[in-house]
Amino acid sequence: MRVTCEQYPKTVMVLGPSGCGKDTQIDLLISKCEYQKIGTGEMFRSLYKEKTKSGLAAYKYWSKGEWVPDKLTFELFEEWLKKYEVAKPWIFSQVVRTAEQVHKFDLLLEKYDRSLDCVIYFKLSEEAAIDRMSTRRICPKCGADYNIKYKKPKMKGVCDNDGEILVTRDDDKPEAIRERLVEFFKKTAPIVEIYKEKGILIEIDSTPSIEEIHQNLLKDLEKWIMTRKK
Ligand SMILES: [Zn+2]
Repeated sequence: MRVTCEQYPKTVMVLGPSGCGKDTQIDLLISKCEYQKIGTGEMFRSLYKEKTKSGLAAYKYWSKGEWVPDKLTFELFEEWLKKYEVAKPWIFSQVVRTAEQVHKFDLLLEKYDRSLDCVIYFKLSEEAAIDRMSTRRICPKCGADYNIKYKKPKMKGVCDNDGEILVTRDDDKPEAIRERLVEFFKKTAPIVEIYKEKGILIEIDSTPSIEEIHQNLLKDLEKWIMTRKK
């Protein structure tokens, strides 16, 4: 079957625990379909740098690793989404973080005359996620991320871009990882259930190789396209 990018879902959200490789998969999808990637991390940092009122207010929370209140987060979204091209397909990375935000997010999208077409959930068990994260390495200079098992640099232990020695981030230490994951699954399980009930959930097993996961995702998106065509 030949599918074109115009047939792909126009508004997508990706969910999955750290270590599931969702950002790598989003990048692969973008290289195929020119999705515009939208995430909260970049939003918080950029609006802080631009010194917008809500950007500065949110900084007080996230700079200390604290939860940015829902109301404020959605105020930031309102500002942030204006920067994206409405005609292009959008892919959100992990922006809905609690069950309460599901409805708020729908309302927000309505303002842009779109609705969530599908949610891709990259499934990974807690053990597998811990394993993946403990093998993660990052370049302290350019921020590129690697995995000594799954996404190896060309030369062992150094960054492909600049030759810098790769390091383990502090929050990739086992205890910190476990704590974050427990929190993630507790909050995300109800969100996944809601989207499953809405019939827009695509679940992808994140245990195979990066390329295999990508191919499985494309197959499932084709299935999504076929059911929409009928
Ligand atoms: Zn680097």
